Amino acid sequence: MPGMSNREAVLQRLRSEARDIRRNSWRALRAAGAGHVGGALSAAELLAALYFHYLRIRPDEPDWPDRDRFVLSKGHGNAALAAVLAQAGFFEESRLDEFYAYESLLGMHPDIKCEGVEMSTGGLGHGLSVGVGMALGARLQKKDFRTVVMIGDGELQEGSNWEAAMAAAHMSLSNLTAIVDYNKVQQSGHVRDRMALEPLADKWRAFGWAVREIDGHDVGEIVDVLDALPLEQDKPSFVIAHTVKGKGASFAEDTYLWHNNAVTDEVYAQALAELEAQA
Ligand SMILES: [Mg+2]
Repeated sequence: MPGMSNREAVLQRLRSEARDIRRNSWRALRAAGAGHVGGALSAAELLAALYFHYLRIRPDEPDWPDRDRFVLSKGHGNAALAAVLAQAGFFEESRLDEFYAYESLLGMHPDIKCEGVEMSTGGLGHGLSVGVGMALGARLQKKDFRTVVMIGDGELQEGSNWEAAMAAAHMSLSNLTAIVDYNKVQQSGHVRDRMALEPLADKWRAFGWAVREIDGHDVGEIVDVLDALPLEQDKPSFVIAHTVKGKGASFAEDTYLWHNNAVTDEVYAQALAELEAQA
């Protein structure tokens, strides 16, 4: 648009892609009839900024050796990953209508056989350890690709994350970034009531990471932190993205009831009507 700064044009595009991620997540979950809603919707802006601003990828060459690696460790958010991969051109959006169908590569959790998916996840707590391996692999091969892992907040209760945190800092893996989709809600309730994480930033700093906190729905803040990576020399970066579980659907926001739920025609229609009103 004439008169618009380059930055504002970028941000407008990302807001639009995030809306499409939500719409396409609902489309996939409607096709499945049920599924993980809340954690897909909370990650929409983060995924939009990663795929349409930060990650160096080639959708027509998914196995390009120098591509940046992205691991969705919170694998139950796969409807949103499938959405963004389709929007980025890894496959046709029509395949979202086969989400969770028999023999489909798009399931409730990411499948490494699907174009653009770097790791089968959903058994929680494993993504960051594999991300450490990918980042170390880049160093050993003298390649400059970057590795980004998205973790759920409930997932941080898994001890394996903290082993990976120690290893990454010990090896000074500045080519590794972890982003926590901090929506404050997990499968069975609020994270603070199940096993609290705070003070989260202090813990990761104590483990040797560079830490920054952002609003995970503000595409400007997301772009700024991604452009600043690595946040400090010789340290892995940890981004705490404050988000709302179920973002964009009034009935699904900030409640564990929509971690995983049935998606009927009525629910789908209401969700899309709300997205339309927000646009
Ligand atoms: Mg959560």
